[in-house]
Amino acid sequence: MAENENKTVNFIHRIIDEDIASGKYGGKVYTRFPPEPNGYLHIGHAKSICLNFTTAQKYGGRCNLRYDDTNPVKEDVEYVDSIEEDIRWLGFNWDKKLWASSYFPKMYEAAETLIRQGDAYVCDLSAEEIRAYRGTLTTPGKESPYRNRSVEENLRLFREMREGRYGDGEKVLRAKIDMASPNLNMRDPVLYRIAHVEHHNTGSTWCIYPMYDFAHPIEDAIEGVTHSICTLEFEDHRPLYDWVLKTLGWWDPRPQQIEFARLNLSNTVMSKRLLKKLVDEGAVEGWDDPRMPTIAGLRRRGYTPEAIRDFCERIGVSKANSTVEISLLEHCVREDLQGKVPSRNVIFDPVKVVITNYPEEQTEEMELENNRNVPAMGTRKIPFGRELYVDGNDFMEVPVKKYFRLFPGNEVRFKGAYFITCQDVVKNEDGSIRELHCTYDPATRSGSGFEGRKVKGTIHWVEAKTAVPIRIREYDYLYVENEAGEMVLNPDSKREITALAEPSVAEAQPGESFQFFRHGYYIADVKETTEKEKVFNSIVGLKSSFKTKKK
Ligand code: ATP
Ligand code: MG
Repeated sequence: MAENENKTVNFIHRIIDEDIASGKYGGKVYTRFPPEPNGYLHIGHAKSICLNFTTAQKYGGRCNLRYDDTNPVKEDVEYVDSIEEDIRWLGFNWDKKLWASSYFPKMYEAAETLIRQGDAYVCDLSAEEIRAYRGTLTTPGKESPYRNRSVEENLRLFREMREGRYGDGEKVLRAKIDMASPNLNMRDPVLYRIAHVEHHNTGSTWCIYPMYDFAHPIEDAIEGVTHSICTLEFEDHRPLYDWVLKTLGWWDPRPQQIEFARLNLSNTVMSKRLLKKLVDEGAVEGWDDPRMPTIAGLRRRGYTPEAIRDFCERIGVSKANSTVEISLLEHCVREDLQGKVPSRNVIFDPVKVVITNYPEEQTEEMELENNRNVPAMGTRKIPFGRELYVDGNDFMEVPVKKYFRLFPGNEVRFKGAYFITCQDVVKNEDGSIRELHCTYDPATRSGSGFEGRKVKGTIHWVEAKTAVPIRIREYDYLYVENEAGEMVLNPDSKREITALAEPSVAEAQPGESFQFFRHGYYIADVKETTEKEKVFNSIVGLKSSFKTKKK
């Protein structure tokens, strides 16, 4: 793990520092990452993963992976597998893998304890009635007519609920707290509900299921979690979290809930529910579509774990909700890739060049550096010959002002090869360009130390006979803002083109990344790249639109 990763000081770490100083948990720091296995993890989860795991690392503590599977909705092994793959890929290892559903018996016992203490009751009001009785922020709630049932009656009814004597919604178990509390969450919240639904782990053992606010503190306490980090929406639920533990007598030491602001990213929709909808409706090609903000999508897109961890580090941890510009994430990706991946010549929108004074049958091997920032990455040889291709936008028949690339009469450097002068534009009958006739100056060979004259433009090229056709998918944001400021699906988020690459690109392995010289960063798609056909995803462009703040 990179050294700088444990250096963050944020408000959560300050709380932990104080807890260590006061001996609150005997110096222990135990965190958890608690996903609900109902979808793939996204970049927002990465923030929570980085925070929980690096916090444990920083303090020599532990971090569990706990599946928060108390809700018996469709949970899929596909999701479970993807969650584990994604956490490992990000570079973290959990201490234990746990399932909240394995605590159902303990949760049930805890509920009976509350009933016996007079702290919970079975209520027959319907969901709508409960809502109506709850009151509002400005008006107090009304007590349920079932609130003062005896302990015996409550125990009997709760057991009957568990035995399946009632239908969904007929009865609930509620905490008996305070219907006049200024915090709506404390107005006799529901602890258990009836749901005659199979659970992926417990099958049909249970037909009553605990609510999140009751289950979560119990899960944390059972596991000995010291610092239960969650997002800001749960701040108003903290008094209930504490009430559950205090009332059960699981208070000293108790886990403490700490809230931080969730990650919001521009041009990005980040809720599993909405992402699932995109997948189900076929708006994308799956959870790992390279346009998706899922970890799986980012991985397939060519983002690296190092870049994502760097991003999570840079955005920091705070209590204030805000939206982070996606260009910061892109900046982190670019910074990571530029020191890692080799450069290759790839021609988009090819224009043919014939070097008329170059011998017909001759070819040469030219030596080009793999990464100009990293000399240790060495060089590669690529063939040069009489017929070549250059990029369409590296030629202008009638140049605009300050255009230094190819145009009739102009001399440019072919990167790593020779100085080339455009002599003539040869056209097809329809007026389109067939090829450019050029000449080269043998004295200007790259590496020969030629210093006779300078040229302003340097362009890249591939040799025609050995060029390899590849497929490239250029991606744009999945969501864009319309004039009304709403996020809407971008109809042009994927564009496929073919391009011509230097021969070495034919060896690209699935998952291998490159800089396509002067174009951007690209990764050989893990699913569609084969021995025969190379398919690339655009990762990120070369230029940053992100402005680093002046220090
Ligand atoms: P979603 O709304 O996307 O489904 P969720 O919060 O319901 O997200 P969970 O599986 O319950 O998803 O989340 C696991 C953990 O990840 C929780 O602790 C949650 O707070 C955290 N988390 C989820 N989204 C974000 C986010 N955007 N930023 C930071 N943390 C997040
Ligand atoms: Mg959730």
